[in-house]
Amino acid sequence: MKKVLIWLSSLLIVACGSNKILEVGAKSRSVADMVLTNANVVTVEPDQPNAEAIAIVGDKIAAVGSSSAISMWIGESTEVIDLEGKTAIPGFIEGHGHYTSYGDSFYRLELRYDKSFADIVAKVARAAEGVEPGEWIVGRGWHQDKWETKEGILIDGIPVHDTLSAVSPNNPVMLIHTSGHGVFANQAAMDAAGITKNTIPPEGGEIVRKEDGRATGMLREAAQDAVRDAFAEFEAQRTPEQVEAELRRAIITAGKESLKYGITSFQDLGTNFKEVDLLKKMANEGTIPVRLWMAFEEQAADMDGKLDQYRMVNYGNNFLTIRAIGEKVLDGALGTHGGWLHEPYSDMPSSHGLNVVPIKEIEYSARLAMKHGYQLAIQGIGDRATTELLDIYSAEMKKSPDKTDLRWRIEHAQVIAPSDIQRFVDLGVIPAVQGIFACSDGPWVEDRLGKERTLERGYIFNTLYDAGLVPTNGTDPPVDEIDPISSFKCSVTRELPDGSKFQEQETYTREVALYSYTMGNAIAAFEEDIKGSIKPGKLADIAILSQNLMTVPDDKLMDTEILMTILGGKVVFKK
Ligand SMILES: [Zn+2]
Repeated sequence: MKKVLIWLSSLLIVACGSNKILEVGAKSRSVADMVLTNANVVTVEPDQPNAEAIAIVGDKIAAVGSSSAISMWIGESTEVIDLEGKTAIPGFIEGHGHYTSYGDSFYRLELRYDKSFADIVAKVARAAEGVEPGEWIVGRGWHQDKWETKEGILIDGIPVHDTLSAVSPNNPVMLIHTSGHGVFANQAAMDAAGITKNTIPPEGGEIVRKEDGRATGMLREAAQDAVRDAFAEFEAQRTPEQVEAELRRAIITAGKESLKYGITSFQDLGTNFKEVDLLKKMANEGTIPVRLWMAFEEQAADMDGKLDQYRMVNYGNNFLTIRAIGEKVLDGALGTHGGWLHEPYSDMPSSHGLNVVPIKEIEYSARLAMKHGYQLAIQGIGDRATTELLDIYSAEMKKSPDKTDLRWRIEHAQVIAPSDIQRFVDLGVIPAVQGIFACSDGPWVEDRLGKERTLERGYIFNTLYDAGLVPTNGTDPPVDEIDPISSFKCSVTRELPDGSKFQEQETYTREVALYSYTMGNAIAAFEEDIKGSIKPGKLADIAILSQNLMTVPDDKLMDTEILMTILGGKVVFKK
């Protein structure tokens, strides 16, 4: 009975909408452009959690209900897709990623799966054969804890660059750590960056050295900037046309890849004015493949005076939103001992981690965000970083008590002091977490934090949810693979590759996990009115899955295939 009533009320909503276009013919409006029928629709709407069919008019959902009820929307021009019992869910929203880096990553060496440093050296050797002397070789995704053989001289688990430099004497090599918080450089890259035996590292950075003072090639946090800048300088020699063509290629590739995973919206943490200029152009052309929410990662002084003109909400037919500042990084990653902690690392007692971007800079960004109506989304990984960020946020919020519902975010929020949980709630700050990190970091987090601290503070995502905070999700591509199914699985099982469980008491239920990847992430971007659930009036962004994510056994979850992705009422990916 309840279902019928809701179905009627959806009809009413649509009827109201159709009144507005009476002059072009109300009758044609009652015919859907597309009907998805005979499906297991999981709506993520509490009032009507399940349905069988969806009618789509234009780029929006017009009605949701039983297959027979929705059949009345079918006309001659309607494309009817019989889903034969397959599952339809709201399109996934990637809640935290790096959009153009992700697109670029398809044109770089992929080091994520390499099982030893020697394998990486071999890969670079092959790449060096195919490029001109002087050209840079860039790779990404390595992690020393994934290496099964640990040959060579090891300092903090990482070798010295000699074998790498030997295979690439004429090409600078920059190998970006999977966390993005450090690079490993060969001699040519360090030469290009001007790093010598006597170079003093910048504040918030570390040049790892051998006992004799020689740089090993490992450059942590701010120290990696010299190499990245040298690479940028090399890249800057390209013509503006080349630069735009490559950026465009990255934007298109990142979007097309996202769609293959059922992702219809992508939240980017770390864009710049140049990228947004091109994105705006592409939004006008209608060539952006997925809906984007982009956060500026620029110096506060550079943003000052520009933010009003750049602010865009649902621009280009809901494909581009610019209303956030992030992710400046307050601290580094746990993997590289960079996450800023209250107490020292258990496996490196000399270190509390690093404060990367100075507090003053974040405070400046907070003032700008408040003044110009932007969300603030700064990275805090360690518990100290989160405490500091909550301090900065609350100080700024106190100055403008009239402004509420700001939805400022802390990105990653991997280690949280118990006393800070209620502060998130009180300030309305959203912890923008990534489910998958619990499983990709799980194997070594206890080394970094120790057993007790991990238990109390590590990846406590369900504790945050229970405290009343918005659950969120994502994979931080290209840091981790973009696959929402693996992050979903980790969110509900916390199962590590060896079969053990990491912080099992912090699993989400399946319902919360799906909510986190749809409505939760929509809320974290002020988009819950147009995205995040299958509901009349919302954008027709839908993923079709081969099986029911809500009920398949844990060990079958990874068999879930994305059969189809629908974006704005159009099939944009089909397996
Ligand atoms: Zn990130």
